[in-house]
Amino acid sequence: MKVKVAKKGKAFVEVVLEDVNASIANALRRVMLSEVPCLSIEDVTFLENTSSLYDEIIAHRLGLVPIRTDLKLFNFRDKCACGGAGCASCTLKLTLEKEGPCTVYSHDMKPEDPKLKPQEGIPILRLGNGQKIAIEAEAILGTGKTNAKWQSAIVSYKYRDGEGAKAKGDNRSFILRIEGNGALKPEEIFTKACEILEAKATEMASLL
Ligand SMILES: [Zn+2]
Repeated sequence: MKVKVAKKGKAFVEVVLEDVNASIANALRRVMLSEVPCLSIEDVTFLENTSSLYDEIIAHRLGLVPIRTDLKLFNFRDKCACGGAGCASCTLKLTLEKEGPCTVYSHDMKPEDPKLKPQEGIPILRLGNGQKIAIEAEAILGTGKTNAKWQSAIVSYKYRDGEGAKAKGDNRSFILRIEGNGALKPEEIFTKACEILEAKATEMASLL
C-alpha cells in the first residue's frame, strides 16, 4: 500500500491510498471512527449549580466537548496501574467556575495540564444575574465504539478516479478524507488507526 497526502487543512487531511482494495480502505475508516482513543469527560462533580439547567444536562453537554489529547500521556483507566481508581496516568482533571450574567463556554474549563485544552468557543449554558456554577470534571480515554463522545473524526473514502474506475476494474486507488474534531490531529488519527489495524492483523496471524 502506498500513502500520499493529497490535501491538508487545519482540521482535515485527504490521503491517497494506492495499491489496496476497498476492504483495507474501509477497515481503516472503521478503525478511525470506533477504535482510535481520545479524551472525553466521563465524571462530573457539581459543587454548586444555581443555573436553570439540571446537573445531568450540563454533564451531558460537557461530555461532548472535544479535549486535546496526547495519547503518549494516558492509559485506558480500566487497564491502568491504579486499577481503575483514577490517577494522573489515566485521568485529566478539569475545573469550571463561573458567575452570571454570562455565557459559559467550553474554554472556561481549566484543565490540570494547560496543554490539554478543551475545544474553544462551544457554548454550554447561560447564567442569569447572580447564578453560579462550580464543577470538577474528570476526562478519560475511550473509543467511539463505547460512546460517540469518544469519536475523534468523521472519515469517508471514495474511488480516486470516480465510480467509473470501479466499473473499469481500476479500483485499487482511493481518497480517504479525515476530519478531526480537535482532540487529535487528522494525521495522528490516521497513524494510530494504521497501528491498531496492524496489531489486529498480527494477532489474527498468530491465532491462525
Ligand atoms: Zn490510573
